[in-house]
Amino acid sequence: MASIFTKIISGEIPSFKIYEDDNYLAFLDINPNALGHTLCIPKKEINEIFDLDDETLSGLMIFSKKVAHAIKKAVVCKRVGVSIIGLEVPHVHVHLIPINKMNDMSFESKINLTQDEFIEIMKKIKSYI
Ligand code: AMP
Repeated sequence: MASIFTKIISGEIPSFKIYEDDNYLAFLDINPNALGHTLCIPKKEINEIFDLDDETLSGLMIFSKKVAHAIKKAVVCKRVGVSIIGLEVPHVHVHLIPINKMNDMSFESKINLTQDEFIEIMKKIKSYI
């Protein structure tokens, strides 16, 4: 069965898409740690990051770098933290999270955003790509 992220790629499930090319997609995390929390995924559906072939793995990092630079311009933060977990969704994804302190990388504190706030930050990040 297709992963929830494959359904996002196809548009079967709605998302706040930030940027995509032939091989990768960036979209906002629906349950964000912070404003601008973004996921970057390969369109190829693979469960674990280190099962990606070398070309897809390095391409994902280069794609994530481009998105992270745009996030840094769109959101006031010290760093864009990077995390790869995958316990919930078995489709490789890189979390890009605006942070100011170590604890901001904890997945225990979440923020609530309205639909309008998701749209606003999506547009802002997109404008810097
Ligand atoms: P993990 O697999 O543990 O790295 O976490 C999966 C992440 O995907 C979580 O941060 C979820 O909030 C996020 N997520 C799950 N479903 C969606 C969705 N439909 N749209 C955007 N983000 C999602």
